[in-house]
Amino acid sequence: MRKNIVAGNWKMNNDLPATEALILDLLKQEQTSNAEVMIAPTTVSLFQAFNATKNSNIEVIAQNMHYAESGAYTGEISASMLKSVGVKTVILGHSERRAYFNETDELLAKKVDAALKNNMRIIFCFGEELTDRKAGNQEKIVGSQIKNALFHLEAAAFKHIVLAYEPVWAIGTGETASPKQAQDMHQFIRQTLNTKYGNQVADDMTILYGGSVKPANAKEIFGKPDVDGGLIGGAALKSQDFYAIINAF
Ligand code: PEP
Repeated sequence: MRKNIVAGNWKMNNDLPATEALILDLLKQEQTSNAEVMIAPTTVSLFQAFNATKNSNIEVIAQNMHYAESGAYTGEISASMLKSVGVKTVILGHSERRAYFNETDELLAKKVDAALKNNMRIIFCFGEELTDRKAGNQEKIVGSQIKNALFHLEAAAFKHIVLAYEPVWAIGTGETASPKQAQDMHQFIRQTLNTKYGNQVADDMTILYGGSVKPANAKEIFGKPDVDGGLIGGAALKSQDFYAIINAF
């Protein structure tokens, strides 16, 4: 079933006291839409964040995980470790992970498999760079990112996956894809799913847009028929802005 979701990616911002303070602020905000709300604090704060949001409708999710169950992977975190602190959803494939930590489609396919094996939900991110868009290659790039990391899966697996289209040129830059650019790409993504898995998987897929979403532009972007919500970076760090976006539905 397609859902409206607004997920806040806090990236490497907010230590534990700042995380607790921002959550307290978020809990004071009023939600007038029926969107699912998620926040992704830094890993060291996940346990406290999970406990602090227990009696709310905010889901605490992770920004990343390793594909292995355990072992000699210094500094890494497994799906079962995330689950042990209450986390059931993980963001995979964020463009910053791809760009700064060399995460390839092949590696992401392994992470996707590990998350699914552990019954976790995935927010799978992808998107083209500015040079791709300027050359008119955005659909080719996005199509291959989706196929390479996800098209080995059975149709049933897509019930546990949310897609997040995040054009790299719009992340943290203040530049947003126009509502039409977002809609065109989301339609293409749905069509790509339809071609491989059929109408049901394509229709049911929740597809988020990410890239400089703010209170001022959220309503217009979320108003597009194939945009089901947003993955929010900068604006997720301000409680009022985050809820203004959540309430833009
Ligand atoms: C993101 O990091 O996923 C993102 C969309 O960031 P921002 O909203 O700051 O562009």
